[in-house]
Amino acid sequence: MHFIPTNIDDYAVKHTQKEPELLAKLTRETFQKILQPRMLSGHYQGRLLSMISKLVNPKNILEIGTYTGYSALCLSEGLQKEGSLQTIDINEELAEIQKKYFDLSEYKEQIRQYLGNALEIIPRLELKFDLVFIDADKPNYPAYFELIIEKMNPGGIIITDNVLWSGKVVEKVKEDDASTIALLRYNKMVVEDKRLETVMLPIRDGLSISRVKDN
Ligand code: SAH
Ligand code: CA
Repeated sequence: MHFIPTNIDDYAVKHTQKEPELLAKLTRETFQKILQPRMLSGHYQGRLLSMISKLVNPKNILEIGTYTGYSALCLSEGLQKEGSLQTIDINEELAEIQKKYFDLSEYKEQIRQYLGNALEIIPRLELKFDLVFIDADKPNYPAYFELIIEKMNPGGIIITDNVLWSGKVVEKVKEDDASTIALLRYNKMVVEDKRLETVMLPIRDGLSISRVKDN
């Protein structure tokens, strides 16, 4: 779902750098073979993730929710030469396509895939992060935040996807809608947390950028 009028959105996409060929190929294969291909970040959001990563120039990146690896490849574009990206997904059926495209990329040696529940894997990571992308199951967003905030370097950036959840965050919430309830809580947490500075962007399904203060 797009919140921006189609003609404006088309114009913005047209005046955004092209999608790298490997990512276009990954998109085609995802749409042919994998369920729920709409979860993939895609051209425009992918270029934004790449741009943010290049501005941050992180040593270590953590991604929660790999899917077919599209956003991991975009975020890797900004990595330092000695840097690494750790990416976690619980769905074992995705591991093969992830590996195929990571191996085809120039970041092959820098990307590490983890298979399992991010809630269990994150506490075991002995790294500090400069950039984190939260994009897995929405009910666990608040829990992911609690786990990663301790592992952020000062000045580090947390990017969070789907924070507008097709607009459900401004509608009447159904009692059993765990995702929307968690997103409302998460969005409030990050904007009120004194350790952070947060800007929510109403692009695509809503993307928040939170910066960990360095003083
Ligand atoms: N970041 C990807 C899209 C991620 S889709 C992109 O932009 O292209 C969300 C992913 O989160 C799915 O692949 C799903 O398998 C994964 N996921 C859901 N619950 C999870 C959990 N508890 N731990 C790790 N991954 C999880
Ligand atoms: Ca997403």
